[in-house]
Amino acid sequence: MIAACPCGSGQRYDQCCGRLHRGAALAQTPEELMRSRYSAYALGEFDYVLATWHPRTRPDSISGGGISWTGLEVTDHGEDWVEFTGRYRADDGTVGAMTEHSLFERRAGRWFYVEGDVSDQ
Ligand SMILES: [Zn+2]
Repeated sequence: MIAACPCGSGQRYDQCCGRLHRGAALAQTPEELMRSRYSAYALGEFDYVLATWHPRTRPDSISGGGISWTGLEVTDHGEDWVEFTGRYRADDGTVGAMTEHSLFERRAGRWFYVEGDVSDQ
């Protein structure tokens, strides 16, 4: 079990995104959902990523894509959107970052990821 949560909150994983990943809590805000989805990508919890994806835009499957996520910074957020930068290291050793403006929608009392505009840096 890892100690520090990958989302960078400074909390322990099991007190932070881990609660959401194991179904013990629901995200109360788009930012909380976004952080938990980032952590799920970082930990390979792809079932969680898919389960929190809006059915309208959800892909059939996803994979890690040969990169490791190494850091998250949430830069701005609104009522139903979050803007963040994620840093990563590719399997070939190159490092990079992507910035995404993500849209979320509340459905039957739960927040879902809808889509995002990505810009590589
Ligand atoms: Zn977290």
